[in-house]
Amino acid sequence: MQTPTPGRQPGLRGRTAPWRSRTLAGAAANGAGHDFRSHLRLGRKGLAIGVDIGGTKVAAGVVDAEGRILSQAKRSTPGNDPRAVEQVIVELVEELGAGHRIWSVGIGAAGWMDLDGATVLFSPHLAWRNEPLRANLQRLLRRPVLLTNDADAAAWAEWRFGAGQGQSRLVCITLGTGIGGAMVMDGRLERGRFGVAGEFGHQIIMPGGHRCECGNRGCWEQYASGNALGREARELAAANSPVAQELLRAVDGDVARITGVTVTELAEAGDPTSRELIEDVGEWLGLGLANLAAALDPGKFVIGGGLCDAGELLVAPARKAFSRNLTGRGFRPAAEIDLAALGPNAGLIGAADLSRVSSRMHT
Ligand SMILES: [Zn+2]
Repeated sequence: MQTPTPGRQPGLRGRTAPWRSRTLAGAAANGAGHDFRSHLRLGRKGLAIGVDIGGTKVAAGVVDAEGRILSQAKRSTPGNDPRAVEQVIVELVEELGAGHRIWSVGIGAAGWMDLDGATVLFSPHLAWRNEPLRANLQRLLRRPVLLTNDADAAAWAEWRFGAGQGQSRLVCITLGTGIGGAMVMDGRLERGRFGVAGEFGHQIIMPGGHRCECGNRGCWEQYASGNALGREARELAAANSPVAQELLRAVDGDVARITGVTVTELAEAGDPTSRELIEDVGEWLGLGLANLAAALDPGKFVIGGGLCDAGELLVAPARKAFSRNLTGRGFRPAAEIDLAALGPNAGLIGAADLSRVSSRMHT
């Protein structure tokens, strides 16, 4: 178990507690005439545990009321058995909870949760199908438990403590193997009528285009994700193009080993072809963001996820394509596009905070 000293995490020092600083600068800058945090139970300053369940790892951390992680632990995701996953969550909460007074537990996972945060409707990595996970965990943990989608959890964390602070209409995009999406509108997660809003990665951006695992063709995540970057690089390398020699050298000629990460690393080292490939993905990103702006009119897009290691190499072309494709450009204010601030721990920070500000035992 890794135990960073509270308050000494890089990048998180010296922040003002959000419920103290909410005034105004943020709300005023957004033109919001009201305080869109007043509904939150921000007086609850106890600790919460956030658990982020991924396809391979379960990461958990004790999170304080200012979004700082006081201690952390990890386990491998135990295959497909829902009971085994519950057991790992219980072990992590017991291990991390020793020596702390834990108010509540938030669980973030890929998939769809019902609007009450009681039932996992579907999770792609795990065998949860209509699983009443909250009731099971509250019985085992004897604390309030909240279930949330991982993209929602990360967006909440960025809004409360990261790059989305002070925004009245925030859209967060997580670029990993696919595209995760979430919205915080007027201080609330906007989850749609059935709890499954934010699947922006499956907007069809190229009819008849690349096949997507959702069953359709031409989805945005087939063009603007880590997987898309890897696929394009492999195609270029397989064509034996002279411009792909750095890519081929990086994997000893084994084209199948090229991934999005390979490209990002080479781009950082200055390989012009890898930079171009990232630029292409950035353009697709900007085009999809322009579509979202037409529908949702946010003040800011925050872009997180593993692909963001490419930083400005990705975001600069995205901004350009966004401006070029924005409807009504030149006659309307445009949303900002920024990189996420909290890194890979955003999911567990957000899950913990959501459970704390909305905690209530459901029996
Ligand atoms: Zn799709």
